[in-house]
Amino acid sequence: MLAIAWIVVFIAVFIALAYHRVSLKIATAAIGVLLALCTLTSTGFGLGLFLWLVFAAVAIPLNVTAIRKPYITRPILDLFREVLPTLSATERTALDAGTVWWEGEMFSGAPNWNRLEQLPPAELSDEEQAFLDGPVQQLLDLCDEWKITHEDGDLPPEAWRFIKDNKFWAMIIPKQYGGLEFSAYAHSCVLSKVGSGPAGGTVGPIVAVPNSLGPAELLMHYGTDEQKDHYLPRLAAGEEIPCFGLTSPHAGSDAGAIPDQGIVCKGEWNGEQVLGMKLTWDKRYITLAPIATVLGLAFKMYDPDGLLGETTELGVTCALVPTDIEGVNTGRRHYPASAPFQNGPTWGDDVFVPLSFIIGGQDMIGQGWRMLMECLSVGRSISLPSGSTGDAIGNARLTGAYAVVRRQFNVSIGAFEGIQEALARIGGKAYACESVRRFTANAVDLGEKPSVASAIAKYHVTTMGQQVAKDTMDVHAGKAVMLGPSNPVARSFQAAPVNITVEGANILTRSMMIYGQGAIRCHPYVLDEIEAANNEDKSAALDDFDDLFYGHIGHDFAAAARSLVMGITGGLGSAGGKTDALKPYYQAMNRYSANLALLSDIAMATLGGSLKFRESISARLGDVLSNLYIASATVKRFVEDGAHADDLPLVQWVCEDAFATVESALAGVIRHLPNRPAAWLASLLIFPLGLHARVPSDELGRRIAALVQQPGATRDRLTPRCYISADKKDEGLALFERAMIATLDNAELQKKLVKACKDGTITADHPAEQIEAAGKAELFTAEELRRMRDLYALQMAVIRVDDFDPEELKSVAKKKPAASPKSV
Ligand SMILES: Cc1cc2nc3c(=O)[nH]c(=O)nc-3n(C[C@H](O)[C@H](O)[C@H](O)COP(=O)(O)OP(=O)(O)OC[C@H]3O[C@@H](n4cnc5c(N)ncnc54)[C@H](O)[C@@H]3O)c2cc1C
Repeated sequence: MLAIAWIVVFIAVFIALAYHRVSLKIATAAIGVLLALCTLTSTGFGLGLFLWLVFAAVAIPLNVTAIRKPYITRPILDLFREVLPTLSATERTALDAGTVWWEGEMFSGAPNWNRLEQLPPAELSDEEQAFLDGPVQQLLDLCDEWKITHEDGDLPPEAWRFIKDNKFWAMIIPKQYGGLEFSAYAHSCVLSKVGSGPAGGTVGPIVAVPNSLGPAELLMHYGTDEQKDHYLPRLAAGEEIPCFGLTSPHAGSDAGAIPDQGIVCKGEWNGEQVLGMKLTWDKRYITLAPIATVLGLAFKMYDPDGLLGETTELGVTCALVPTDIEGVNTGRRHYPASAPFQNGPTWGDDVFVPLSFIIGGQDMIGQGWRMLMECLSVGRSISLPSGSTGDAIGNARLTGAYAVVRRQFNVSIGAFEGIQEALARIGGKAYACESVRRFTANAVDLGEKPSVASAIAKYHVTTMGQQVAKDTMDVHAGKAVMLGPSNPVARSFQAAPVNITVEGANILTRSMMIYGQGAIRCHPYVLDEIEAANNEDKSAALDDFDDLFYGHIGHDFAAAARSLVMGITGGLGSAGGKTDALKPYYQAMNRYSANLALLSDIAMATLGGSLKFRESISARLGDVLSNLYIASATVKRFVEDGAHADDLPLVQWVCEDAFATVESALAGVIRHLPNRPAAWLASLLIFPLGLHARVPSDELGRRIAALVQQPGATRDRLTPRCYISADKKDEGLALFERAMIATLDNAELQKKLVKACKDGTITADHPAEQIEAAGKAELFTAEELRRMRDLYALQMAVIRVDDFDPEELKSVAKKKPAASPKSV
């Protein structure tokens, strides 16, 4: 009995030491003291001696460097070198580009919540706020969605002029070149507000692309002074329209495989013989290409005649090519998912340009891939997450209003539990989108180039935006299906796949990028261990690896102990931040962070380099990381918004939804790990009491649904910077909002009318006739009758759909599309 008690004490002390991650020396001393107590009080000489021998056999080699390094660490280092995952040059460049930010804490197994709480909040300057309230609002006022998408297939000329004159394409360009030099957060707020407008799917990419990865961004970082002085003021003033062409028919996701070429040669330029290159390219899907005046081009450069040196294959290079040069083909258009922003192919054969067209000049030959990777994380943190957030916010407001206004079975449809489920998802995901958008844009302002966080934001916000658009369609039902000027929701649903596809198609982003890069980049030890193992100075390699490896083992023991303990306690008692209401979420995240740290290492250790090909496992680990990031962004946003108790259901919904996904992803990894003993061990440590998280309850869902349907400060905080036209009160969201308020204000009169119809006081069938009958029966006062007539008119305006003369619909079918001449 006593022996069992001692075993329990030893295990408990061991777990406590690991949980608190004490140093090896303190752990050795603590176990030594415990062993001394045990042998002095409870064991016979023989057993005591045996235990001390075992202890010495383990503790001495581990604690004595002269034994540990040559006899333990070196063989492990040799083995590590053998199983080291091989990285291609492009993967290496992607890994080296960008920085690790908050997502690194999620990998640590013990996130530092002080760090999160101390991050300065994202804020707008007066100038940025004025731009949002002024030019952004005015631009959206100029854009009639139906005319753009159905009739003209383009923005009206005055909107193009407005975009240029108001420097919408110069948000990232410094003031010294005539740009707006906005913060990343302000830039993101502009795109979010644009995304919330009815024509957001079309206007969004037009505004976003010149401010994202493209000529301006590349010039600012890598351009020569001459190039910057020439192009940046012209781009800022809208005198040049930029586009950037990377994607080819044969190189979509695998952008490194572009077959487009630049062959170094001599040729004539402005009447002189100069060294240049003959460019041959065939690009597609290029936003703004049909109207661009300057084409940023990525191609592979070759020097077969050795005009630049001995190397023949010079690598991916980026150049700026004016589109008015002979041989540059632009002008044809694709028609992206009913959002007709300017997008099209561009091609050219043997177009000669001087080497000075290379961004950064000759020094940057072959540096194109690095340039693109380094800039990608910034643009990817902003453009698509912001557009999709705006979309989700707009849909949340529209759908909440519609659920109040639309009546079936004599009640607003928002009263039905089925609709409330959809409204809860819409509200919860809109809150999560805005939280992640804000958090990630703020990272850029804090000086980060968050490569993993930007991939998380890109994938999850665009996916959630698409889910919100789908739920929105389901709630609006027939009203959403019938296209026409009265339909404010269908275009966002149709255009959602655009954001899913661009800047890294989503399946690829989830399967390969988030965890594929995250595991190595964010892991507290792996990248450094790889660096140490690759160090050619063998002695330094051993020293560094020795430090790292035992730190890594300590990290794993801590993750295992924390997983086990918090798997039993649910994280109770672990670090919980300053805001009491958020404590349960911080504590749950402590647990899942430890789980991620542990399971990652088990997966990496048992699968080695093959993990990157096991996309389903790697994607699930990415889901754990991503959902912890989403939950962190959400608690941070709650505090930044003023920690209003009314917002707590939204935080709870997002966190519970995220945690349920985390647990299902963890269980999915464990289920599919090929090494079954490792999987059993992981299961025991991570789920000692089984799965714990529950999806948000129906009760919580009902609270979110109520919040989305109730005008007020909470709904406004949920949908910040949502475009509502100040002038066109009878259209779009402005109309829906008026109808919602009128419906809520007259709810008692409506009830009275329903009751009178039910008890036979009123016998009319048609709602308009019922109102008139109620007036005649003096059920309503004259004032009440007027209000009910107004309400009826508003409700009709909201529920009406468009119909067309058959001839009008033929106009679209008449135009016959053709492939670009290059592609046929
Ligand atoms: C509207 C629009 C605008 C665009 N604008 C530009 C622009 O201005 N400039 C520019 O250069 N490009 C642009 N693009 C290209 C875009 O950024 C994507 O890179 C490109 O569309 C992806 O190629 P693809 O569509 O051919 O998909 P594919 O590469 O054919 O991929 C098909 C599917 O396979 C998946 N997949 C591919 N590889 C893997 C993998 N290893 N693991 C798992 N899944 C994988 C993808 O996720 C996708 O679901 C634009 C695209 C669109 C649609």
